[in-house]
Amino acid sequence: MSNISLEGVTKRYPGGVLAVDGVDIDIESGEFVTLVGPSGCGKTTTLRMIAGFETPTDGEVAIGDNDVTDAPPYERDTGMVFQDFALFPHMTIRENVAYGMEASGEYTDEEIDARVAEMLELVELPGVADRTPDQLSGGQQQRIALARALAPKPKALLLDEPLASLDKKLREQMQVELRRIQEEIGITTVFVTHNQEEALTMSDRLAVMNDGRFEQIGPPEEVYDDPDSRFVADFLGTANIFDGVIASAEDGYATVDCDDVTIRSTNPAGIDPRTDVSVVARPERFRFEGASTDGGAATSETATLSDSINAFDGTITFKRHLGSSVEFRLETDGGRELVVVRRSGLDEHAPGDRTTVTIDPEDCRLVEA
Ligand code: ATP
Repeated sequence: MSNISLEGVTKRYPGGVLAVDGVDIDIESGEFVTLVGPSGCGKTTTLRMIAGFETPTDGEVAIGDNDVTDAPPYERDTGMVFQDFALFPHMTIRENVAYGMEASGEYTDEEIDARVAEMLELVELPGVADRTPDQLSGGQQQRIALARALAPKPKALLLDEPLASLDKKLREQMQVELRRIQEEIGITTVFVTHNQEEALTMSDRLAVMNDGRFEQIGPPEEVYDDPDSRFVADFLGTANIFDGVIASAEDGYATVDCDDVTIRSTNPAGIDPRTDVSVVARPERFRFEGASTDGGAATSETATLSDSINAFDGTITFKRHLGSSVEFRLETDGGRELVVVRRSGLDEHAPGDRTTVTIDPEDCRLVEA
């Protein structure tokens, strides 16, 4: 397997659209990296430049030790899977999976037969070799597309929204399956999705793209817990974001004045007072401090608490169970909606309850606006 490196890779389409704007990344051999971001941010164009379907306007693409910036796709040794499967409809599954090996002219019939059987085992569809694609379900077709891409033993696997056309349940099954197969053969993989949940659950690292650039690259936990920008915080998962101005900053902390509230946050970068910033507070980081169930005023206990730092009085407006956790929405007395997620069984509250939620400054992240 090979590492993949992009250096200053840029793509300007005829007509002037700057689709990819100088991206750099070193993807390790065997790593699973996801390019994630909103529609039109340049994910597919980046992947197509790795595959060789597009040539960069600027910058370099290397696969292993080879600079492949100007090499055609067939010289790059990558396997690609698309959202629409793109199986050949008139060919049997066996012929589909064998296609890349046949086309290369490098393998004997015995080698091809053995490899096709091995690939069908790998994707857990050993019995379908003689069928045609229209005799398979969507999920099965996508497994075959994967088997076809992997059969010629490519150096890297490139996946462009491969699960997007599957329904939610199948999609989740295939996420697990795809990762199992990828780990089993240890192939370097670049995966494109606009689905942030998929990116967070599947990747060794993700590169969050915005407007043709990588806003942040890192392991899912790091990018989720320590976003570098408001965009990343907002795009990945749910974030409570407090926009304001730093009133004071000292010893790695900052106090931020927002329209409705003052909030305290860590400030490891030492951003200066009077800077416009956003404080990012993830829903799981809030705690309930106490609630009255009569729908009336907060209890004296919560009233005291609400004078303390990062405490928000309000009324619960919404509650839904997410399986092992419960999501609450709270309308604060300052008119802000907060999303709070707690483990099921903890802090049971109901819509209409008055309550106070708090968050430690240590659980708040500061990013420049
Ligand atoms: P999506 O999730 O919607 O597929 P994406 O992040 O993959 O989006 P790209 O397909 O890479 O985005 O497109 C990036 C930008 O380049 C967009 O503004 C798009 O309109 C533009 N673009 C893509 N292909 C071409 C092309 N062949 N000619 C001109 N502009 C293009």
